Amino acid sequence: MGNSQEVLIKSQTERASVSTPSRRRSSFPIDYSELAIFKDVSPLEWEDWHWQIKNSIHSKDQLSQIIQLTPQEQEGIRRSKGRLAVSIPPYWSTLMDPEDAQCVIRRQAVPSDEEFKISPHEMVDPCAEDRDSAAPGLVHRYPDRVLLLATEQCAMYCRHCTRRRMVGEKDHKPFDLKKSLDYIRSNRKVRDVLISGGDPFMLEDEKLEEILQQVREISHVEFLRIGTRIPVTLPQRITENLARILKKYGPIWISLHFNHPREITKRVRQAIEMLADYGIPLGSQTVLLKGINDKPYIMRKLMHELLKIRVRPYYIYQCDPVKGTAHFRTPVATGINIIEKLRGHTSGYAVPTYVVDAPGGGGKIPVSPNYLLSQDKGKYILRNYKGKMYTYIE
Ligand SMILES: *Cc1c(COP(=O)(O)O)cnc(C)c1O
Repeated sequence: MGNSQEVLIKSQTERASVSTPSRRRSSFPIDYSELAIFKDVSPLEWEDWHWQIKNSIHSKDQLSQIIQLTPQEQEGIRRSKGRLAVSIPPYWSTLMDPEDAQCVIRRQAVPSDEEFKISPHEMVDPCAEDRDSAAPGLVHRYPDRVLLLATEQCAMYCRHCTRRRMVGEKDHKPFDLKKSLDYIRSNRKVRDVLISGGDPFMLEDEKLEEILQQVREISHVEFLRIGTRIPVTLPQRITENLARILKKYGPIWISLHFNHPREITKRVRQAIEMLADYGIPLGSQTVLLKGINDKPYIMRKLMHELLKIRVRPYYIYQCDPVKGTAHFRTPVATGINIIEKLRGHTSGYAVPTYVVDAPGGGGKIPVSPNYLLSQDKGKYILRNYKGKMYTYIE
């Protein structure tokens, strides 16, 4: 573990010296030294997450030095100012196809003008989190667990973000961590705290440690988890020191957010392996996205690749009806069909639960293919994954 960073830096340097720039690409990441705007960046800077954040891409001018922006993307960037602003870590930018606007990596990061088409039934806060808010930045919906929003910032602003009403907004009403912690302290029913945001790994180690320590001190909190996409969008953030802190206050479960097998790069694998080696249980939540992962073979590949890096697929989410996301949304039948093509056909560990987070605040509702065809007087007619029927008598 100790010298993995060194090895990586060395291999990057070697590659940089032999590579010849090519126009048409089939493999990613692009070596950053081939990109004009990063050509003077040292491997040490590239590996420094603070450098990555400081040099994240926010403007049309910067982005157009990396990819060939379409008019739709240019319009999307222009109109996103201040609303789920564009923010793309240099690392993520090397995964984007410069010539293909349909690139699965690029579409998650670069806004298009379609974000400004509002469709019927879309809402600002579809899951009614604000209504179920117990303190600024604390959502208490289920009996025994709460969602604690630690920051409204992320390394990358995903274009399908369900919390776009607050995430990446400079003038958003600030979260009140003290009030949130007081609420958890005074509610003995809360045994599970999910720290999310925004992305909790945007916080400095000291700040994150302070929060973990305070939550851990609450005796009735027995289960602690963190929701983060940073290991995927900015793997450089996963340092030994961070892993040590997570271990110190552990067990802490981490829910990652992977949407496509292409996100599992060598660098991401290295970050995930460090977390796993520190004994941190890892799950993944995937958002079902049109044109990105709405094909069963892509989802199957993603789930298999996750298991290979010790990440257990947890949920597939139907894309919430949040304003400006219709271009990402599939029919619910698409999700059900994906589960149908996974369950029984591959390892049970590779089958997450497909859920619809009920509009109006009903919580996550599992939606699955129907395997119980009928039930009468203790006689159950069941169907297996091949469609064959079986009778179970109790
Ligand atoms: C998703 C969610 C949780 C956690 O739900 P699990 O099914 O236990 O993972 C808790 N609170 C809120 C508000 C949520 O949206």
